Amino acid sequence: MSEQGVMVVISGFSGSGKGTLMKALLERYPNYALSVSCTTRAPRPGEVNGRDYYFVSEEEFCRMIRDGELVEYACYCGRYYGTPRAYVEQRMAEGKDVLLEIEIQGALQIKEKFPETVLIFVMPPSAAELKNRLCGRGTETEDVINARLHRAVEEAQDMDRYDYLLVNDDLESCVSLLHQVIQSQHFKAASQKERIDTIRQELKSFT
Ligand code: ADP
Ligand code: 5GP
Repeated sequence: MSEQGVMVVISGFSGSGKGTLMKALLERYPNYALSVSCTTRAPRPGEVNGRDYYFVSEEEFCRMIRDGELVEYACYCGRYYGTPRAYVEQRMAEGKDVLLEIEIQGALQIKEKFPETVLIFVMPPSAAELKNRLCGRGTETEDVINARLHRAVEEAQDMDRYDYLLVNDDLESCVSLLHQVIQSQHFKAASQKERIDTIRQELKSFT
């Protein structure tokens, strides 16, 4: 099994349940570290700076881009979102599996820079259920909900570029599947170079 943590991208249409899934996954399994993104959008009621997001101004966001502090970033429905580099690198080195809950443009940037990253797309059981969840959450205005549903139509064009597609119907089953998919990454031969070298050396004694 690889000792360094793996990087995992989780994307999905707004309202598909990514945040809910992340929370449940972290509660159930200890070895995950969830990256906290920076954003220029306003906090929702109940959201806490530094826990849910780092809420920053556009000036600060631009400075972070200039100084290379973001490992990826994107504009989503008129607001900027980005992943701080330092946290991801540090936690992976500590052996934690780092989760990036980000949208599709950022996901594709990550895959380009780190091809070994696993990209997981979470979808709702149906489009109608997506709308129900997004409206039911009650955190966005009608305009914002419509913008997000329009964006979902565009995102659906690229969802087949992901490595895995999970349907978030029953939450607990989806959490288990997500965990299994992520853990399987540790057993990839490509991430076990040290073990391969060791056994190759050991086997030489038979020749
Ligand atoms: P996202 O982070 O993808 O935008 P959320 O996690 O905020 O989505 O979920 C959107 C809404 O759907 C929330 O009200 C949440 O409680 C609900 N939800 C999430 N997962 C499920 C599920 N498996 N079954 C039913 N409702 C769900
Ligand atoms: P929300 O405003 O609902 O919290 O997030 C809107 C979208 O931005 C979601 O699809 C979410 O996954 C995405 N997102 C959150 N953080 C980041 C980030 O750091 N980078 C990118 N590219 N997208 C992000």
